Amino acid sequence: MASVSVNLHARNRNEDEILIFSSLGDAKAHIKKEEIETNNRYIIGYSTKNFGNSVVTSSSHKVCWVHGVNPYMYVSLGHQVLKCHHGTDKNKKKKMEKEKTKTFSSEQHSYAKKKTRHALQPSKKMDCPASIILKEVLIFTPEEGSSSELDKKMAASNVRSDLSKGIKKIMVVFPNVEHKYHTSGENAGLLQRIDSDVASKIKELVVEDGVANVEEMQRHLTSFVTKNVTPAPSKTNRRFAPTKKVIRYHMNKAAKKGCDSSDDQHNLVQLVSVLSV
Ligand SMILES: [Zn+2]
Repeated sequence: MASVSVNLHARNRNEDEILIFSSLGDAKAHIKKEEIETNNRYIIGYSTKNFGNSVVTSSSHKVCWVHGVNPYMYVSLGHQVLKCHHGTDKNKKKKMEKEKTKTFSSEQHSYAKKKTRHALQPSKKMDCPASIILKEVLIFTPEEGSSSELDKKMAASNVRSDLSKGIKKIMVVFPNVEHKYHTSGENAGLLQRIDSDVASKIKELVVEDGVANVEEMQRHLTSFVTKNVTPAPSKTNRRFAPTKKVIRYHMNKAAKKGCDSSDDQHNLVQLVSVLSV
């Protein structure tokens, strides 16, 4: 991996932007805030094993330099790629393979489930190239005056010899790639899935407070979002203002206890039929 240029100050869409956070929670909170401001949405496209709790696996990790006002070195222990929810359909190839072969293995059976889902719900995938890359890194500050190529090689070699001196951080790279092929702005929230915090709130209100009326639940959710979500999301963003049908689905799900996995599958099909109305 080549060293990347850094802009730690203001968002400049002419180049990739890198931000450093102390924890994965802080990084995700920042991304969520930006999603709300722009009405965009990202989903996890790829993640290395145990991302968020990555560990040093070898002493041969690559040491990367980041130049700028305050140059530093980092070693990446793991990464996660967030893709726009209108990005490429990673199951497309699998689905096509499934079409070709009807052999039933347990693995293919799971593709069959996905296929059912997509058959009922028109795909949101539009090949938007926008993404965000998170890296779990160890950061090392070079000694002052490490400017020549030889100095840099020496510094990198020192880093590799004792990785325990690194400080664990989450690096977030915003590539200089704009959203494409889908609506943006006010209407961009209409196809968004319910936010996990809102879904949890529905569950809580059903289980703990016994809320059983959809209109009442909707009022509770409006108040919950107003109090807890900053910046204020767009009123048309379904992530925070789900339709009554989606709310009813989550209420029913919370009311049912001791669901086994076949019930979950049944619920999924129900949700899909609700979403596709
Ligand atoms: Zn997009």
